[in-house]
Amino acid sequence: MAVTESSSTTGATDNSNVINVLNPSTGEVIGSVPIHSEAEVNASVSRARQAAQDWQALPMPARKSELDQWRHALAARADDLADLIHRENGKPRVDAIVEVAMALNHLQHATNRAAKALAPHRVSPGILANFRARISYHPLGVIGVIGPWNYPIFTPMGSIAYALAAGNAVVFKPSELTPLIGRLLADIAARTMSVPNLVQVVTGGGTTGAALARSAVDKVAFTGSSATGRKVMAAASENLTPVLMELGGKDPLIVAGDADVDKAAEAALFGALSNAGQACISVERAYVANSVYDQFVSRVVDGAKRIRIGGEDADIGAMTRSEQIDIIREHISDALDKGARAVVGGVDTVDGNFVRPTVLVDVTADMKIMQEETFGPVLPIIEVQDAEEGVRQANQTDFGLGSSIFGTERVRELADRIRAGMTSINSVLAYSAIPSLPFGGVGESGFGRIHGDEGLREFTRTKSTVEQRFASPIDLLSFNLPANTYDRVRSLIKRLYGGGVVDRASSMISKLF
Ligand code: NDP
Repeated sequence: MAVTESSSTTGATDNSNVINVLNPSTGEVIGSVPIHSEAEVNASVSRARQAAQDWQALPMPARKSELDQWRHALAARADDLADLIHRENGKPRVDAIVEVAMALNHLQHATNRAAKALAPHRVSPGILANFRARISYHPLGVIGVIGPWNYPIFTPMGSIAYALAAGNAVVFKPSELTPLIGRLLADIAARTMSVPNLVQVVTGGGTTGAALARSAVDKVAFTGSSATGRKVMAAASENLTPVLMELGGKDPLIVAGDADVDKAAEAALFGALSNAGQACISVERAYVANSVYDQFVSRVVDGAKRIRIGGEDADIGAMTRSEQIDIIREHISDALDKGARAVVGGVDTVDGNFVRPTVLVDVTADMKIMQEETFGPVLPIIEVQDAEEGVRQANQTDFGLGSSIFGTERVRELADRIRAGMTSINSVLAYSAIPSLPFGGVGESGFGRIHGDEGLREFTRTKSTVEQRFASPIDLLSFNLPANTYDRVRSLIKRLYGGGVVDRASSMISKLF
């Protein structure tokens, strides 16, 4: 078995063909998993293909009842799941149990919603009025899910739950830093659901992920960095396998002059610092109207100084991946070199794998901290003339995942102008906790949607079916056309599309569907 994984100082380390999983807060080894080879990945995908057939053979209510049982079993093990996330990822226990709750919320929503969102439905037959037209949704088969380490159960569940509810089997490759939680998910699935190999986990690093991407899966649902996303797309293209890309972000927060500034500052702190800033939808940049700028900065500074790091009552825990600390320091140094000021923290905020918050002012758009994903507890703040200017500047990055805006007048209109997949008005991150809302980005942040009805349909193929109800006087789908067909079609064009009474009637009919 080829072992070409890179080593990491805070998460998993390589040891021949196993990965030892480390607790990033203590450095202690908490478990180990095998590095699965390409052949083993392919064998999992073959088993999943049979599982997909068995799963699809069950009527939808039976599948729902099995997914309900899985959810109940996961809920019964909530403490174990939270404890494992806490130890494997380094986040505080309370964050870990909230993550479990959010993951189960998605599982419940996907399970309950599938029958309705995926029900076949009739659509307008248009000009072929003698036809019945219908759209139906069918499972793709086997979904390869590749997930990151920052939300090791919530993030993959955003694909796994929806893929299963839509009738697919899943092969999941968790991050090498957090494989144990993935394995526990699959173990509980195996014990509570009747179809063997419905949820399988393959473990390993990038090479295992790459093997899954180029395997015979029917779709790859990838969550991770934009750089790795490109590699996954390239590997999947070998088999023309479709991909869903949930990638990185550089999410802006905009504060208008008429915003509740204290609320905005509190939300900015939470959005930037929760999970130690290791969230794809972290607030990574703030644009604040000059009339409230001083008040906002002062509230943020006070709040950032109060953040508790490490220990049982911590607000933020350890960085899961030590390499990330180098990126954070590099971004802060680059900003300071180019004229930014650290009003809290700075480059020397690191104690082992714990990083204290940094708040930067006097930042400019050319700094790395304003363009590249920092993924750490850092908030750069830019003073702008007003929210309109904030939106304009916020849109000047290649990313477009989440965003937030605080204000009163015109706030909805400005929110619509932010180039991002999601926007929270007068709050941060809220859209991620509402399972009926589609989640995903634009540009470097990826494409496709998880969550919501769109998230269910992502894991299906859409099929169009037409059925003739009665024969029409002119059958345009045959060569047996009467001699005057040209003239009759020309006259039909005028009546159907020329603005008269038939045009209006057919427009009304198509609106009814
Ligand atoms: P990575 O891109 O480094 O890794 C993501 C997953 O891909 C991991 O399981 C990784 O394995 C695997 N992988 C690595 N190389 C390859 C390869 N060549 N082919 C296939 N798979 C591969 O991301 P991180 O785990 O560091 O996660 C952080 C990133 O994820 C951030 O950019 C964050 O913004 C983004 N993210 C996006 C979310 C969204 O919904 N849009 C949600 C959460 C995070 P291994 O770890 O074992 O190397």
